[in-house]
Amino acid sequence: MSIYINSEDINLLILHYLRERGLNHAAFILEQESKLKDCQVPPGALINYLQKALLMEELDSHILEEVALHQGFQRCRGEFRLLHSHTCGYQTTPRSIVDNSNGFADDEDPDVVTLEGHSGKVAYISYEKSWILSGSYDGTARLWRIGLELSDWETISILPHISGSAQMFEVTAIAINRHKGIASLAKDGYVRMWGNRWELIGTLFHESEIVGLEWDPSGYHLLTFSKDSIRLWDTQGSLKQIFDHRNTEVSDVKWKGDDEFIVATSEGIFIWKIGENVARTLCNFLSVKKIRMDSEGRLLAMITDENLGFYDQDGPWWMKKSVSAFEWNPCQPLFIAGTSQGELEFWNPVKKSSGPSFKAHSSQITKISHRSDGDYFASGSEDGVVFIWSVDPPSKMRSLHFQASICDMSWSEDGTRLAISYSNKISIYSFC
Ligand SMILES: [Zn+2]
Repeated sequence: MSIYINSEDINLLILHYLRERGLNHAAFILEQESKLKDCQVPPGALINYLQKALLMEELDSHILEEVALHQGFQRCRGEFRLLHSHTCGYQTTPRSIVDNSNGFADDEDPDVVTLEGHSGKVAYISYEKSWILSGSYDGTARLWRIGLELSDWETISILPHISGSAQMFEVTAIAINRHKGIASLAKDGYVRMWGNRWELIGTLFHESEIVGLEWDPSGYHLLTFSKDSIRLWDTQGSLKQIFDHRNTEVSDVKWKGDDEFIVATSEGIFIWKIGENVARTLCNFLSVKKIRMDSEGRLLAMITDENLGFYDQDGPWWMKKSVSAFEWNPCQPLFIAGTSQGELEFWNPVKKSSGPSFKAHSSQITKISHRSDGDYFASGSEDGVVFIWSVDPPSKMRSLHFQASICDMSWSEDGTRLAISYSNKISIYSFC
């Protein structure tokens, strides 16, 4: 194929257009000035060509239309005009999509409901008062309303994580603040902030891709971090401060009170105070991968590839231990660690002592989740089993078996239900 356009052809098209419009004087002058040799031109030729050009532009702009429609977008109704750019429904900020049809509840057992709306692995779930938020590798986060009866549930909204070129990105982390404000991180390295009606209100990004996010205790400030910087944002997505970490690689960030946060890096642990320009060094050790503050903000647990450590008023102390999942008890200085061999270990960092330790699962423990009263906790594993344990003394209360590795777990606020995500499903168990 070869395309050739010359100015004589264009002038001829205009000449015939002018004549068809009855603009004979203008046509005469154009013919004289451009010394055109008139020839046969079909009626309406100029308009036809321009229409074809607009159709081509529509095809070009909507090349991924099928994908966008499949992802729940409304069909684009934006105009294509010659002298106006097209405002495309597939490239503008997507609103959340209301969907009551998607999802399926398996209601054979009245004490369990299984939600099957996602098409990819559900990496994140959080049980809020009467709803569950889930984030999946299918590129969506979903809000599910769960009623007083387990069988009374619905999908409220789907939050798509979609780029300008209509590509979906896996949702890798979600943070909810105390005012129910949602910020979600997707594989494209962008954090999306969602408003009260679950509409997208802002998109946050760094120079390199964002790998984690964390709301402060007040719920008015969000920290996002990439490997070389940490940024502080308000609830509207306005940037407040940049904390530079070009010389160390950031791997985790956790708040310590309302105006300080702790950073785990390849060079050790640092503390930043909001408004200051230099970080304090807490300890220089191996590359620290994960950190967690206890519920009172006094003790810090630190995880490296091969070590578990705690930091208290005397400084850091370490054990050689490969930890795959961990959580502080919300009510007492008790730290529970799960290992890659399926063992559960109890630690009391105040007494600098270890408690019971035993083999619980047949493969790597992926999640430990305490009930809010601290009396019970659940452990989930790659072996597809969830155990519910009493804390004191540690005793197995219940076993739940699934077809796939356990991804995430979240207790309801009153502790009567446990939501478990595995593969693309979410099962909710009632223990009333
Ligand atoms: Zn469009």
